[in-house]
Amino acid sequence: MRLPSISSREKSDTEDGEKAGQRRLEYSPSSRAKCIGTLCKGTDIAKGELRLGTLKNYADGKLWYKWRHWGCATPMVIKHLKKSVEIADEIDGFHELLPEDQEKVQKAWAEGKIADEDVFKPAKKPTEEEKEEKGKDKVKKKARKPKE
Ligand SMILES: [Zn+2]
Repeated sequence: MRLPSISSREKSDTEDGEKAGQRRLEYSPSSRAKCIGTLCKGTDIAKGELRLGTLKNYADGKLWYKWRHWGCATPMVIKHLKKSVEIADEIDGFHELLPEDQEKVQKAWAEGKIADEDVFKPAKKPTEEEKEEKGKDKVKKKARKPKE
């Protein structure tokens, strides 16, 4: 018996009875999943972080979620999210989120992108300039001590 070639199917986001393409929002129950977003380059999603999953249909017929940080949801991701369900409330897991996160999702839904402050920012090391500024602060504080 030959297995159906699911992997060769291109139209994964259409409504042909498959669950593939379904989205889910949740707080990461572990820190094992890696983000598929391009912004953070595959960083682990920390436990408790809000993450957005897309159900993928694999060649063996199994369905697995691929996860990304909420902060790694680009406008394109939001666009696809909006195509997957009619309203934000219908996203799987939405009602289990905290009210403030539901609001966050609704806002992103309305604006077509996540809030600027939510966008993933790579943890960057302080630049040389910033380091110097901090150093100056210390010096200043010391200098403020009365000399006599
Ligand atoms: Zn990410």
